[in-house]
Amino acid sequence: MSSSTNRGRHVERCTFCEKRRHHVTSLIAGPPGVYICNECIEICNSILQEEQRRNPETAGAQSTTATSSTPKPSQLPTPVTIARRLDEYVIGQHDAKKVLAVAVYNHYNRLRRVATASDSDVEIEKSNVLLVGPTGSGKTLLARTMARMLDVPFAMADATTLTEAGYVGEDVENILLKLLQAADFDVERAQKGIVYVDEIDKIGRTTGNVSITRDVSGEGVQQALLKILEGSVANVPPQGGRKHPEQSYIQLDTSNILFICGGTFSGIEEIIGKRIGQEAIGFGRDHDLARQKKLTRISVDVEALPPMGDPQARDAYSKFLIPKDLMGFGLIPEFIGRLPVIATLNTLGRDDLVRILREPKNALTRQFGKLFELSGKQLEFSDEALQAIADQAIDRDTGVRALRAIVEDVLLDLLYELPNRRDKDVFVVEAEHVTGLASLARGLSNEELQAEDQLSPQMPALPEESDLPDEDDLGKRESA
Ligand code: ADP
Repeated sequence: MSSSTNRGRHVERCTFCEKRRHHVTSLIAGPPGVYICNECIEICNSILQEEQRRNPETAGAQSTTATSSTPKPSQLPTPVTIARRLDEYVIGQHDAKKVLAVAVYNHYNRLRRVATASDSDVEIEKSNVLLVGPTGSGKTLLARTMARMLDVPFAMADATTLTEAGYVGEDVENILLKLLQAADFDVERAQKGIVYVDEIDKIGRTTGNVSITRDVSGEGVQQALLKILEGSVANVPPQGGRKHPEQSYIQLDTSNILFICGGTFSGIEEIIGKRIGQEAIGFGRDHDLARQKKLTRISVDVEALPPMGDPQARDAYSKFLIPKDLMGFGLIPEFIGRLPVIATLNTLGRDDLVRILREPKNALTRQFGKLFELSGKQLEFSDEALQAIADQAIDRDTGVRALRAIVEDVLLDLLYELPNRRDKDVFVVEAEHVTGLASLARGLSNEELQAEDQLSPQMPALPEESDLPDEDDLGKRESA
């Protein structure tokens, strides 16, 4: 036993030698109740070194096992394959997929090189990624799908819940704890995982934001995140929560963890527009395009851009996003510098929503189709129905996130009757079912439902109220 109770007090001991915390210099905690002391670590280390000295071949094999969580050359898909695989789950967003695929390929290629350490003359720095796109455009989906595809541990965090150490809220190390949990506490695997930090645009340096749950400026959070983003050895409290001086930590090196940050950056088009406008004026109204292109590496035909406030404005201006624009959201230059790869995602339109309903491997229509199959029925959607669902989602302003609720709503009455429907095996959802002008449900009368119900297996009767134990009884049983 690594921890025992001494007159009701919890005593932490090394699981290997059973020494107590105050008998050793350091006691490191693993999964709940498991500890190892510095002395046992030293002994284990010398055993391993001795084994390596005696048997160099197995030592070689061990070092490959140690890096087994890095995709091997043959396993590492090319950027084109990565982007194609993403296509199976994420609709549209081709530019973002391309940027992300290249970044991820380079990242894991770099890790392979670090693992083989063939030549150390050129050190390739890691490139974390920033995804800029409206809510529900697929930022989280892209990051999550990428991790699943590469079979690496994945953790997600919301930047707005983070605080710098010492304030009320979550320490940034808790993100790493989530990653460790996703890797079943395999430190080696966790060190090559992917972390997605959402709402990164909400931790800007602002003045006058006096809150007890966040540090006043948000800059403290950026500084704390910066450390893990650029690569450092972080002390992760294995039980989570706040750090305590007497707690032992798991050390996690973040240099090879890929951080993908995401944010909506609402109103970014205004900042970009202002900059482009100034640059255009700087070049004179006759647009010396060649010079402009040389200096800004983009050629912007300002006149062709939609006016601010136009629904297309955001997507049109986002193409010209440069890191400097993010400073308008209070992100400090050092932080922006650690997110050198920026991918922008577009607002999903009606056609995209229709495709999302139909095409991805786990598309909603497929999910409901499967549900019907389980009842021995078939469900289909006409093109017009899908378009009507997409229109409703756009009207509700929550876009893609509204799709599920709408489909559930359209099918509710039918799902209620479905096991009792013996008149039909195939149901086709049409536009009028979505708009509410017609219903797929027959509206079976109570008599019909009851008559059918007598044919289905009976559910066990609920206990009578008098048979239920009263609260006093429960209290007595618990204290017994
Ligand atoms: P974001 O992180 O950009 O706010 P999410 O990735 O969380 O948005 O998207 C919410 C849900 O909407 C996802 O779980 C997914 O089902 C769906 N979705 C969003 N964008 C796409 C897309 N491009 N392709 C397919 N599904 C999408």
